[in-house]
Amino acid sequence: MNLTKIKEAEEKHYMPVFSRENIVLERGEGNCVYDIGGNKYVDFVAGIASNLLGYAHPEYTKAVCDQVNKLIHVSNHYYTEIQSEYISKLCDASGFSRVFLCNSGAEANECAIKLARCYFKNNGGAKTVLASEGAFHGRTLATLTITDNAAQHERYSPLPQGFASFKYNDFDDFKSKLTNDVGAVFLETIQGEGGVRPFSNDFLVNAYALCKSKGVLFIVDEVQTGMGRTGKLFSFEHYGIKPDIITLAKGIAGGIPMGACLASEEVGTAFKQGDHGSTFGGNALACAAANKVLDILLNGGLLERAAKTGEFFGQSLAHLSKYNFIDDIRGKGLIRGIQLSEKVSAAAFEGRLRERGYLVNVTRNNTLRFIPPLTITKEEITGMVSALDEICASTNV
Ligand SMILES: *Cc1c(COP(=O)(O)O)cnc(C)c1O
Repeated sequence: MNLTKIKEAEEKHYMPVFSRENIVLERGEGNCVYDIGGNKYVDFVAGIASNLLGYAHPEYTKAVCDQVNKLIHVSNHYYTEIQSEYISKLCDASGFSRVFLCNSGAEANECAIKLARCYFKNNGGAKTVLASEGAFHGRTLATLTITDNAAQHERYSPLPQGFASFKYNDFDDFKSKLTNDVGAVFLETIQGEGGVRPFSNDFLVNAYALCKSKGVLFIVDEVQTGMGRTGKLFSFEHYGIKPDIITLAKGIAGGIPMGACLASEEVGTAFKQGDHGSTFGGNALACAAANKVLDILLNGGLLERAAKTGEFFGQSLAHLSKYNFIDDIRGKGLIRGIQLSEKVSAAAFEGRLRERGYLVNVTRNNTLRFIPPLTITKEEITGMVSALDEICASTNV
């Protein structure tokens, strides 16, 4: 099969929602993927921050294959050893005592919203969930409602009720929106799809303190920033705060679909039997994969290593600030973004990097985003940054 044939099938049969790059990927090894023409790309997209261990990681692949041979799926009507082992490990590592396992980020956030609503009902009536402008929380109706996308809000209206928004990183606005009917605040510490936009330390610390003083639940969407991406297991750890609920997905099982909603004992037990569920959530295959990812992060030294490579990445990118069409360089650990001025197109930079064997992608605000496997090496980073430096040097504005 060639690209033309593959594109034909997509155009004829897939619902026309995606805009895809013109390459067909066939296999991966280490931190690289190969297309059907045999071209190699160092991958700074990683299946959108999902392939934490890169490709064909021997230990991970073995754990997954062993589990496939043993048991893939039996539903949550039954216990499995691997789910039991995993939830204990995840709760120990995170300091949360309750978890619900699902299959994606949107579902993890949907679970968090439902859990918050159950908690509000048990504690004095329905309340509003307050989220940030610029946020991305998923594509189900409820998570879309707290995702900043006016066009889709219009397209999918009427939307669920009980949601409101505050201005990104604006504490005064946040304070004015934190009215008595607000029961929970929902945010990403670094808005991933929103252009790798971090909240300031001050904003997070103050917003958290205000929520605590008013008994408002603080929910952090760690779908993109969790599992070591920012140099700590969870991004909230950078700010000395302890959310009531966090959500995980993307990298949690190294590329096998999985999501998780974690909560404190008090909040996590607001659900009663039958309040929520999932056919596939936390199945044996996903748990075996997630269990191995967590092992390698915590016991295999990957978390420390990713923190160091992340620092190095930040220092390397800082050299590019000399170009006047680079407006901002942002991020933490192994989630980094370069916002380009309107004079140049981030999509064109993405294409030129691909010609040189590097995959990156573009998010909101003309921002190039870098979210490689946590196993990315300093050499691979240096190679990509040099290529980008050359592209910048040859760019006339
Ligand atoms: C990707 C993402 C989601 C949605 O995850 P899906 O698995 O695509 O449903 C939610 N929140 C954040 C912060 C994300 O980056």
